[in-house]
Amino acid sequence: MGEAELNRNRLALALEAAGLDLWENNLLTGEVTLKAMKTLTELGYSAREMAAYVDEIYRLFHPDDVATVRAAVDDHLSGRTPQYRCEFRLRAKNGTWVWYANYGKVMDADSSTPGKRFVGVTFNIDDRKRREEEIAQINRQLAEQNALLQSYNTALELLASCDPLTGLANRRRLMDVGGNECKRTERFQHSLSLLMMDIDLFKTINDAWGHQVGDRVICAVADTCSTRVRAGLDTVARVGGEEFVVLLPETDYPSALSMAESLREAVAAQQVHTNNAGTSVSVTVSIGIATQKGGALSFEQLMNNADKALYQAKQAGRNKVLGFHAAVSHV
Ligand code: GH3
Ligand code: MG
Ligand code: MG
Repeated sequence: MGEAELNRNRLALALEAAGLDLWENNLLTGEVTLKAMKTLTELGYSAREMAAYVDEIYRLFHPDDVATVRAAVDDHLSGRTPQYRCEFRLRAKNGTWVWYANYGKVMDADSSTPGKRFVGVTFNIDDRKRREEEIAQINRQLAEQNALLQSYNTALELLASCDPLTGLANRRRLMDVGGNECKRTERFQHSLSLLMMDIDLFKTINDAWGHQVGDRVICAVADTCSTRVRAGLDTVARVGGEEFVVLLPETDYPSALSMAESLREAVAAQQVHTNNAGTSVSVTVSIGIATQKGGALSFEQLMNNADKALYQAKQAGRNKVLGFHAAVSHV
């Protein structure tokens, strides 16, 4: 066996072992001078059907891949890429699409004459591509499920922090917000005020008009408060059956007092329709105020002080606003 034949055998063996299929095109004539036999056979084509010209090969490419392949060839032939590389789908005889990759290079080119032989290898990458597609699909599903979970979490968080009857913050949320506001008060030496509000003689409403009307009254008081406070700054919470807290950050005692007075008046002026056509009920509220500056009190202590003031307002005859008068003067 001569050296040339030995080399041919070695090349065939190397290609076989690497799963590569050699091809060669004549760039001047567009002729396929060495057909990628292994690939074409793999796709189910007979020797007679195998393309003789490069243009015929392009007919086997997936319509979505033709432009990519042509661009990759173009980039290499015009010297923009040192090697021609691309991935594409070929149509098998039975109509299915199979993924392949091409690596190639123009041979015998020098600075003065463009080469005319375009040589390369084709190899099957179908398994890899399908695995990649599966992973991409799984990732898409995971992303969808994550988005869904996130929206459930947001909804759950809202549910966990909201009072279902009035839509106000519940006690849990108030304790969170209140704790943070106390810290802010300490850090920035702001005043923080809290109104504790309780509907007066609410049992009589329930007794006279029923629980449903009672609920409507609770909602009406809630609306009156939440429409009158500063949106995004103050917090109105329902902390008991007919008890509310209005948390007023950066608010000193005089401002809290005037806010409490205006809420008290607004509630007293409000009429709530009953089930009995034409009749409506009105209620009053008692309000206790506690104010602190500089974070001396915990949020629980501030609540307790407001509660004590509320008790005094009830004792003083209801429909009243009273401040908590501690040894320390109001800030
Ligand atoms: P006071 O002026 O001393 O506060 O008198 P009050 O009648 O309001 O007294 P109390 O706080 O003891 O009564 C509150 C009543 O509120 C008792 C309860 O039946 C009623 N209640 C509590 N939660 C709800 C609710 O969600 N809906 C309705 N309709 N009634 C409630
Ligand atoms: Mg009450
Ligand atoms: Mg009460």
